[in-house]
Amino acid sequence: MDIFDKIIAGDIPSYKVYEDDTVLAFLDISQVTPGHTLVIPKKHVDDIFGYDANMAENVLLKLPMIARAIKASNPKITGMNISSNNGTAAGQTVRHSHWHLIPRFDDDALTP
Ligand code: 5GP
Repeated sequence: MDIFDKIIAGDIPSYKVYEDDTVLAFLDISQVTPGHTLVIPKKHVDDIFGYDANMAENVLLKLPMIARAIKASNPKITGMNISSNNGTAAGQTVRHSHWHLIPRFDDDALTP
């Protein structure tokens, strides 16, 4: 059981942003910017290479809706980076597929 499976099970607490039968969205423990959210499939899959069409539909089609909800939570959010690291070589540290939704602000210190 990986750390995100434990979050899904409620064994590790998280701040939930969105949840349904197949997807959980929660705040990253180490937020790059305020509102940094992770979106994960509840069914364990290591990375995008393990997605079937059903999982792709369940997860990917919800990203715009979750992104809008995050943006609506803070009027200072003017942009958002959405990305996923797949495989250790790509920088993935938790081997449970996840999508980073990183709100951007006009005055944030990140490079575009
Ligand atoms: P990766 O490096 O695999 O793309 O991203 C993993 C992300 O998971 C990191 O941004 C890290 O801060 C986050 N993370 C790791 N452990 C936990 C945890 O226990 N709770 C939460 N909410 N986020 C976590």
